[in-house]
Amino acid sequence: MCAFKRLFTGVTLWTWRRSRWISRHGKAVFSSCKPKVCVVGSGPAGFYTAQHLIKGRHDVEVDIYERLPVPFGLVRFGVAPDHPEVKNVINTFTQTAKHARCNFYGNVDVGKDVSVQELQQAYHAVILSYGAEGNRRMGIPGEDLAGVYSAKDFVGWYNGLPSCRELSPNLSCETAVILGQGNVALDVARILLSPTDILKNTDITQPALEALMESKVRRVLIVGRRGPLQIACTIKELREMVTLPGTRPEMMPADFEGVLEALPDLPRPRKRLTELMLKAAVKLPLEEEQERRRKSSRSWGLRFFRSPVLVLPSPDGTRTAGIRLAVNKLQGSGEAARAVLTGNVEDVTCGLVISSIGYKSLLIDPSVPFDSGKAIVPNQMGRVQQSPGLYCSGWLKTGPTGVIATTLNNSFDTARSLMEDMDAGKLDTSAAKSGSQSIRKLLETRGVKPVIFSDWEKIDDVEMRMGESVGKPREKLLTVEKMLQVAWE
Ligand code: FAD
Ligand code: NAP
Repeated sequence: MCAFKRLFTGVTLWTWRRSRWISRHGKAVFSSCKPKVCVVGSGPAGFYTAQHLIKGRHDVEVDIYERLPVPFGLVRFGVAPDHPEVKNVINTFTQTAKHARCNFYGNVDVGKDVSVQELQQAYHAVILSYGAEGNRRMGIPGEDLAGVYSAKDFVGWYNGLPSCRELSPNLSCETAVILGQGNVALDVARILLSPTDILKNTDITQPALEALMESKVRRVLIVGRRGPLQIACTIKELREMVTLPGTRPEMMPADFEGVLEALPDLPRPRKRLTELMLKAAVKLPLEEEQERRRKSSRSWGLRFFRSPVLVLPSPDGTRTAGIRLAVNKLQGSGEAARAVLTGNVEDVTCGLVISSIGYKSLLIDPSVPFDSGKAIVPNQMGRVQQSPGLYCSGWLKTGPTGVIATTLNNSFDTARSLMEDMDAGKLDTSAAKSGSQSIRKLLETRGVKPVIFSDWEKIDDVEMRMGESVGKPREKLLTVEKMLQVAWE
C-alpha cells in the first residue's frame, strides 16, 4: 500500500481535485497511487513523450513545464511561417494537453524557477525535453560584428520569439551570405528572398514583414564546407528555392565536376536531390524557365567547398563588410567525406552574414549530467546515465538534428523506456508523490505564477483574432509581458 494511501485511510473529509481520490460521507475512497511524471519543455519532444505515456498507461499523470507562457517550442518559433501545414501537429499536442491526465504549466523556467532536483522529489520521473536553445559558434574573428547573426536568432526574429524581438537585422545591403547548407539555411534564404506578397498572408511577425518589405537584399549565397554530394538540406526545401517566384539560381558549374558520374551509385533520396541541383546549376533550362530567370530581380546560389575563416570589418571597424572563405577540397567520399583546407582563400563582399551551422543544447541545471562536447544529456534509450528516474527526449537527447517525425520516434522510445522501467520495478512508484501540488506551492513562494493551458488558449484566441483582421492566420504577441497580461486578464 502506498504511503499516501496509508496516511489518509480513515480521514473523514478529503478531496483532492486533480487526482482521482474522492472522499464521501466520512470515508476516504482511494484508487491506487498514480505514477506522476513531469516533462520539461513543451516542444514536439515534450508533447510526444507525454502522449505516448498517457496512451501507454491508463494510470500515469503527466505535467508539462515550459519556460515560455506559450507552448509548442520550435513548431511556433522555428518552423517557417510559409510552412503552415507543418504546424498542424499543434492539433495533436492540444489534444494531449487537454487530456484529463495531462497539465501544462507555462512561464516556469526550470533550472531557475525550480530545480531539476526539486522536480525529482515531487515526481516519480522527470523527462528533460527542453530542446537546443543555443547555437554552434563559428569560432572565427569578427563573428560578433554588427551584421552577423545566428540563424537561431534570425529565425526567432521573424517567428516572434520574445528574446529576438530587438534583433533588427541589417537588410540594407545587397548581398547576404548564409553559412551552412541545412534546411534552416534554406528557410532563412527563402524568407530573405520571398516576395512579401506571399509572406504577408503567413504568421510572420508584422515587424519582420515590414523590415522585409524594405529589404535591399537581392542576392543570397548559401555556403557549404563540403560538396554537392554532402549537402545537408532535403529535396522539398531545395525545390522551393528553385521555384521561388522572382528569383533565379546562380551556381558555379565547376562545383559540380564529377557529380553527374557519381549519380548512379547514390541512394535514392540523395540521387533525386542531386539531380535537382544539377538541373538548377548546369542544365540549360527550357525557354519558359530562361525567360522567368531573365525577369527575376533576385538571385540565390549554393557555394561549395568553402569554410568561413574571418568576418571582414567595414573601414571604421563597426560592422560587417564581407566574409573570407577558405577554399576546401574533399578527403574521402560520400557522406563521410571531410573538408580539408587547400590554403587558398576567397573574399565575398556582403553586409549580412547568417551563421546556420546548427543549434546546440544548453545545460540548464548543474545537477543534470551533460556531455558538453556533444552538447547532449548522455543517455541510453532516453535513460539519463547514472540518474535513476531521470529521462530525456528530443533534440536534448539526440543533438539538434531531425524533423518533427524523427523527434516523435525518439520521444516514443523514451516513453517506452520509462514504462519498461515501471513494469520492471526499476522505477519505484510505490510511494505517492506530491507532483504539481508541491511544485506550485514552491513556485508561489518564489513569485512565479504558471500559465495553464486555458490561459494559453486565451493568448491563442487573441493572436488569431489579431491575425484575422490583417488577413493572417495569427499575429503573434511579441513580449512575455503582453502574453502574461492576456493570459491572466
Ligand atoms: P523544441 O521544439 O526546441 O522544444 C523545446 C521546448 O523546451 C521549448 O518550448 C522551450 O521553450 C522549452 N524550454 C527550454 N528551456 C526550458 C527550461 N529551462 N524550462 C522549461 N522549458 C524549457 N521539422 C519539421 O518536421 N518540419 C519543419 O518545417 C521544421 N522546421 C524547422 C525550422 C527550424 C528553424 C528548426 C530549428 C527546426 C525545424 N524543424 C522542422 C525540426 C523540429 O523543429 C525539431 O525536430 C523539434 O522541434 C525538436 O523538438 P524538441 O521538443 O526537442 O525541441
Ligand atoms: P543541419 O541539417 O545539421 O545542417 C547544418 C549545416 O551546417 C551543414 O551544412 C553542416 O555542414 C554545416 N556546418 C556544421 N558545422 C560547421 C562548421 N563548423 N563550419 C561550416 N559549416 C558547418 O542543421 P540545421 O539546418 O540547423 O537543421 C537542423 C534539423 O532541423 C535538420 O534535421 C533539419 O532537417 C531540420 N529542419 C527541417 C526543416 C524542414 O523540414 N523544412 C526546416 C528546418 C530544419 P556539414 O554537412 O559539412 O557538417
